[in-house]
Amino acid sequence: MRIFNFSAGPAVLPEPVLQQAAAEMLDWRGSGMSVMEMSHRGKEFISIADKAESSLRTLLAIPPEYKVLFLQGGAIGENAIVPMNLLQGRTTADFVNTGEWSKKSIKEARKYCTVHIAASSEDKDFTYVPDQSAWKLSPDPAYVHVCTNETIAGLEYQWTPDTGNIPLVADMSSNILSRPVDVAKYGVIYGGAQKNMGPAGLTLVIVRADLLDRALPITPSAFHWKEQSAADSMFNTPPTYAVYIAGLVFEWLLAQGGLAVIEQKNIEKSTLLYDYLDHSSFYRSSVRREDRSRMNVTFRLADEAQDEAFLKGAVQRGMVQLKGHRAVGGIRASIYNAMPLEGVRRLVEYMREFEARHG
Ligand code: PMP
Repeated sequence: MRIFNFSAGPAVLPEPVLQQAAAEMLDWRGSGMSVMEMSHRGKEFISIADKAESSLRTLLAIPPEYKVLFLQGGAIGENAIVPMNLLQGRTTADFVNTGEWSKKSIKEARKYCTVHIAASSEDKDFTYVPDQSAWKLSPDPAYVHVCTNETIAGLEYQWTPDTGNIPLVADMSSNILSRPVDVAKYGVIYGGAQKNMGPAGLTLVIVRADLLDRALPITPSAFHWKEQSAADSMFNTPPTYAVYIAGLVFEWLLAQGGLAVIEQKNIEKSTLLYDYLDHSSFYRSSVRREDRSRMNVTFRLADEAQDEAFLKGAVQRGMVQLKGHRAVGGIRASIYNAMPLEGVRRLVEYMREFEARHG
């Protein structure tokens, strides 16, 4: 029996993907091997990685001048890897600080460069995304970094920044593939796989080819985008099984009609929850309406002392991982692509029932 898993990540995966992986576990398509057992340089795995990349390119309509890298290190690793790869000839990088994940990126980048905070929503407890008209960029930054979805606060850009000739770098760990993205507006897009793409261990980097010449000499080869690009992400052993599962997830998304269709489903799911929150005085969401995340819906009960009872009742009804991040508390429902509408309906039903009993 599958439960409804609202974890922020590692998170729910599409059931058909898990079933296919199970069916192919011992013998991948007549190879006599599990994907886990394959050489990353063998023809079988190379075909898996090529297919994953081409499916991803189709899904996101990635322009040909962008490289796709399947790496290790996670998004926290990229917090260091990004500056190392982009700082040649410049000493400053600009950041928009919208929450806990931005703060982690900033802290790490400070080891490598001068960080300029172009805008921040810390003044209001990270409940909004600063409008671009309020950003103050430094004179010549190596890049501008944003986190397009703050997983902890439940805050999401519903618009694409325009930084002109300055490369825009985005941590899209928790909203990638949830909606169409105009890749050409970005210099670099990166993210960990374990929310909307597949298992933990795989880090996706999409980088415009002309930015590959900006790495500092100290950049480790395994994290050097140009070296990895020249080696088709096989300078070191890539996380092969995670690449395989991500490839199946990409095919699952394509089979449903691609990201425009997925976006509609995500709007439907998140609207169901937010509408209920807005009509209740028992629950409250503190994020500014136009910046609410479709992926991570955060809210609080009127009385925090009831959180535990709320969470316990949810588990009894087959809904797990609804506890807010330890940094902020409250409740968080992560409703990534693979969360069925039925799971969100069940949650809203339970919220109504809990409110009637305790409100
Ligand atoms: N950025 C964002 C937006 C995240 O949600 C997370 C993980 N929750 C990370 C970075 C860190 O990812 P990892 O643990 O894979 O390094």
